[in-house]
Amino acid sequence: MVDTTGVSVFQRMGLTPVINAGGTNTKHSGSRMRPEVIEAIEESSSVFLNIDELLIRAGEMIAQAIGVEAAFVTSGAAGGLVLQSAAVLTGTDVARIQSLPITDWFPNELIIQRQHRFHYDHAYLMTGAQFVEVGKGRHCYPEEVEAAITPNTAGIIHLVSPFTGSGDIPLPVLAEIAHRHDLPVICDAASMLPPRENLTRYLDEGADIVSFSGGKGMRGPQSTGILIGRADLIEAARLNAAPNQAIGRPMKVSKEEIVGLVAAIETFVSEDQDAETNRFRRQCEMVVDQITEIPGIRAQVEHDDKDHPIPHAVIYFERNWRGPDGDEIHRRLMARSPRVYISPLGFMGEIYMDPINLQDGEIEIVAEAIRDELLKASNGG
Ligand SMILES: *Cc1c(COP(=O)(O)O)cnc(C)c1O
Repeated sequence: MVDTTGVSVFQRMGLTPVINAGGTNTKHSGSRMRPEVIEAIEESSSVFLNIDELLIRAGEMIAQAIGVEAAFVTSGAAGGLVLQSAAVLTGTDVARIQSLPITDWFPNELIIQRQHRFHYDHAYLMTGAQFVEVGKGRHCYPEEVEAAITPNTAGIIHLVSPFTGSGDIPLPVLAEIAHRHDLPVICDAASMLPPRENLTRYLDEGADIVSFSGGKGMRGPQSTGILIGRADLIEAARLNAAPNQAIGRPMKVSKEEIVGLVAAIETFVSEDQDAETNRFRRQCEMVVDQITEIPGIRAQVEHDDKDHPIPHAVIYFERNWRGPDGDEIHRRLMARSPRVYISPLGFMGEIYMDPINLQDGEIEIVAEAIRDELLKASNGG
């Protein structure tokens, strides 16, 4: 039985919820908070304390749970990008922290590979940082980064995200160049969890500070994130963050969210990765099994290091497909009752079913809905 408690809150507002089989994107409200998170939020909500003390202690607990030098709680991974940028511009220098976003009197350039420019650029630039773009099209070479470094360089950006990573400079190579010039590498790996091993992977590969979402795969509060890495940069990030009156002040995180995130991370790191992966894989197979025989449809479970860090059911439309494109299938699934959301993100028009947000009983509804819409469409419907 699908648990529909909570649906009525939105129905009273005149809104129609979705079954989320499209992953943890913010537009479709992220991920399902763990019961441990909700408990921690509830428990902490009637108590007052000093937020600086809480942030410092939460950072220590998170760093210990993950096994890294230092950590800090942010307002989403995007808030973490702002603080990464601020941290490498200002360090712990109070005059610089107070000056942001005015940066014309100290090094303010962030080197970025052209293919790492994306929709979250604002977060890096909000601090007054300037991009120095390197590379051409989808290729970048170490020599181009090396040539872009000047006395005005404050740091080097590295993005790790599904569908990036071909043609860019591998993180260890980029880090070697950066460190030879005494520069930090700031890394955005927001959506790369699970697998749990990615928590430390990018620091091991040479990044100095890494930003992750707390509200995606870790299933903490949707509006949280973490920075992890070098203690001096984490401290610089903290000084730029709320409750200090600095560039990060509009991105505050409440005490309930902070304790909720700590609970999420402690639970996340203690869970069995293989059991979780096998469960996701079985859910994807249920979708694939339902539709393999439909003419023009090729469906398979994909799970790899980069583009599909958890198993996804990927549905390709072949040459002999007679129905409408993936976008239209997506629209039709959203027009059903209940609405089913899948991700129409594919480069070749393919669509993805991501099992991470599904609760008991929902995969059956999703598999049937996808089969039903594809069958109708393949018959000219
Ligand atoms: C989701 C995402 C972000 C933003 O993360 P939030 O936790 O939603 O702020 C930033 N960068 C990448 C690559 C992402 O996938």
